[in-house]
Amino acid sequence: MDRVECVVVGAGVVGLAIARRLALAGLEVVVVEAAEGIGTATSSRNSEVIHAGIYYPAGSLMARMCVAGKRALYGYCRDHGIPHRNCGKLIVATTASEAEKLQSIKAHAEANGVLDMQVLSGEAARAMEPALHCDAALLSPSTGIVDSHAFMLALRGDAEAAGAAYAFHAPLLRARATTGAIELDVGGEAPMTLQCRLLVNAAGLGATAVARGIDGMPIELIPPAYLAKGNYFSCSARAPFSRLIYPVPEPGGLGVHLTLDLAGQARFGPDVEWVDTIDYAVDPARAELFYPAIRRYWPDLPDGALMPSYSGIRPKIVPPAVAKQDFLIQGPPDHGVGGLINLFGIESPGLTSSLAIADYVGELVGHDNSRGG
Ligand SMILES: Cc1cc2nc3c(=O)[nH]c(=O)nc-3n(C[C@H](O)[C@H](O)[C@H](O)COP(=O)(O)OP(=O)(O)OC[C@H]3O[C@@H](n4cnc5c(N)ncnc54)[C@H](O)[C@@H]3O)c2cc1C
Repeated sequence: MDRVECVVVGAGVVGLAIARRLALAGLEVVVVEAAEGIGTATSSRNSEVIHAGIYYPAGSLMARMCVAGKRALYGYCRDHGIPHRNCGKLIVATTASEAEKLQSIKAHAEANGVLDMQVLSGEAARAMEPALHCDAALLSPSTGIVDSHAFMLALRGDAEAAGAAYAFHAPLLRARATTGAIELDVGGEAPMTLQCRLLVNAAGLGATAVARGIDGMPIELIPPAYLAKGNYFSCSARAPFSRLIYPVPEPGGLGVHLTLDLAGQARFGPDVEWVDTIDYAVDPARAELFYPAIRRYWPDLPDGALMPSYSGIRPKIVPPAVAKQDFLIQGPPDHGVGGLINLFGIESPGLTSSLAIADYVGELVGHDNSRGG
């Protein structure tokens, strides 16, 4: 049986960031990934927004890691030449009652350490974005967009330069916690059995299944898994905006918002569709819900402009009736299995937070005495 110090399960943006962090700390790291390459799942099915950290409950892991991760991500992008743009975002109020909510959103953001938000009159917002219809708006200057694939390639490169290795087509099938080590059965094209002292479960939508397959992991501590699909529509017309445009959030979601890619192409979404299975097809009929929502802030959206684009699936660990969830990161003090770290529910803002999540895991590992040093 081959022995390695650390195995990271999953080569999405979170697994890649963790592998880099641990490899740079001097650990021998192997990443096992079920798919053919890096970032093929949720990490390539998102909005690529660098979130500011506005809405998450104060003190939550999401709030803390988003704000810290945003700073780290901008720095990393600058240092590594990763395409990104600090374009900013406008949260737009299209009724008087929505306008009243802007101050409380700003106050909430401030409690999270997002201190640069500015309330704007409708006129001031239109001076920035002339095609916008709104009564008032909130400007988030620190929001941006990033080329997530360039980011993931750079993370992989850093980790490889520090000695990390990657195995693709290599699904973790099951594992057994033994004294001082964890044994892994890895399937795929070249099945193998590995022994490691540290196992990081960063399997995204597969994280609960991976945890269930670990003999010794207390089943009652594994959260339930729910799937909340987010559908996107692209726009055949050139959307005349240079910032991201979000409505004032409604109960249950952020509303149909406009994000831009680095080429300036607009996309709308994601919406929220609770599903039972992973199916990324976008139902064109959902456009009917998008048109009226978008026209509240962009009345000139032409008829027939929306085209089904792509979707991503949020790895939820709370059911639809529960509006908010937080990242759930468990280490040995939480579940009692030496050398095991589980990451559950890493939905948005997981891309923004990835470097901060990696630091958090690095610190957990540092405090995990069961690794024996
Ligand atoms: C619709 C949507 C929009 C989003 N928009 C944003 C955004 O704008 N900004 C932001 O910050 N965040 C956003 N997010 C969140 C962000 O995309 C995720 O938090 C992030 O990509 C999660 O990365 P991950 O590495 O945890 O998971 P994944 O990218 O899903 O990677 C997990 C990997 O594990 C692998 N795997 C699974 N099971 C096994 C196994 N048994 N063995 C080996 N490998 C396995 C999978 O193949 C996959 O490659 C969005 C998410 C969604 C769904």
